[in-house]
Amino acid sequence: MKAVVYEKPFSVTIRDVDDPQIQHPNDVLVRVTSTAICGSDLHMYEGRTAAEAGIVFGHENLGIVEQAGAGVTSLSEGDRVVMPFNVACGFCKNCLAGKTGFCLTVNPGFAGGAYGYVAMGPYKGGQAELLRVPFADFNCLKLPPGNEFETDFVLLADIFPTGYHGCELARVSPGESVAVFGAGPVGLMAAYSALLRGAAKVFSVDRVPERLAKAEQIGAIPIDFTKGDPAEQIKEQTRGEGTDKGVDAVGYQAQAHDASHEEPAVVLNSLVETVRPTGMLGVPGLYVPSDPGGPDEHAKHGQLLVSIGRMFEKGQQMGTGQCNVKQYNRQLRDLIIAGRAKPSFVVSHELPLEDAPGAYEKFDQRIEGYTKVVLHPGHALAA
Ligand code: NAD
Ligand code: ZN
Ligand code: ZN
Repeated sequence: MKAVVYEKPFSVTIRDVDDPQIQHPNDVLVRVTSTAICGSDLHMYEGRTAAEAGIVFGHENLGIVEQAGAGVTSLSEGDRVVMPFNVACGFCKNCLAGKTGFCLTVNPGFAGGAYGYVAMGPYKGGQAELLRVPFADFNCLKLPPGNEFETDFVLLADIFPTGYHGCELARVSPGESVAVFGAGPVGLMAAYSALLRGAAKVFSVDRVPERLAKAEQIGAIPIDFTKGDPAEQIKEQTRGEGTDKGVDAVGYQAQAHDASHEEPAVVLNSLVETVRPTGMLGVPGLYVPSDPGGPDEHAKHGQLLVSIGRMFEKGQQMGTGQCNVKQYNRQLRDLIIAGRAKPSFVVSHELPLEDAPGAYEKFDQRIEGYTKVVLHPGHALAA
């Protein structure tokens, strides 16, 4: 089958690789119809987090069950399903508590598994024609048949739940004000989720014009961080108080306010300043324990200069970590079906799988409006 294969930093290619096989009675094989490229793929694409030549990328996958193992009970051939990016078992201590992003079974020695990563277990990615899904009864979310809402539903694999998770970590409640840093796909989904949860005022901070325009389009207030300290800009619009809540949807590759270099703690520190005393910070943006490309010795070891003293003084709380997609994907699916949510506004490009190399390049540079790319293997639904 054809698959998107990582070659070396800044290079992916389309290659023929072996078809996946059922390896356990609880596996299914899914014929992928939609698979999205993520900001998290870019960390590997840039050679910043571990990626081995030859691995197949892709953790945001939707498709049709092609073959079900003998032990699978809830799925049949022909079912349309979307898979959380987390691979999880469903029966370990963390899965039982709903923390499926930290499954203790699927990736021995580590809490959490995912498709298409070196560090997240042996699960090949779905930017390919076929995908093996382990513990399939647990990991597949069934969708209505046909291809209605395809582009909305594929976002249930990661970014819609992850944006929502950012709001959950910050306990965003009706009537509150929220500052979301980053208007990439995750940040836009966080701003959208904050509005779905009834926030009165949502600020969306970035510098990429197309992304800020999308934020404005959904009813958020765009803030360009290159036009002045974003915390000050937001305080001016909140009677000097700051916001009730904040979400970091940027992570460790945050750019300094003049956009001239990376400053890994800048967003965390901006949030501490922006959010009012006793407010809460949700951090779905990724921070890593080691980053060979980090701008200084501390950053290379995942240690950042965060204003913990100021945070303590303000009595703020912070929540971090991978999204437990299964906590939210069914509910968010049903909001889509009911017509109450349409996350596909974030998708800028729908392309055949073969166009992945160019799409990676442009998405990585955040140019030509590349905000979120959905690939359609086999030209299944190519626009
Ligand atoms: P992205 O890189 O497309 O978006 C990041 C955005 O942040 C960009 O638009 C960039 O211009 C903006 N930015 C950079 N510096 C900034 C600053 N100082 N202030 C405000 N904005 C700034 O990535 P994405 O796909 O939206 O993902 C965002 C983050 O979320 C990444 O770190 C990704 O790895 C992470 N992520 C986490 C999870 C999870 O489960 N926790 C899941 C998916 C993605
Ligand atoms: Zn993702
Ligand atoms: Zn588990």
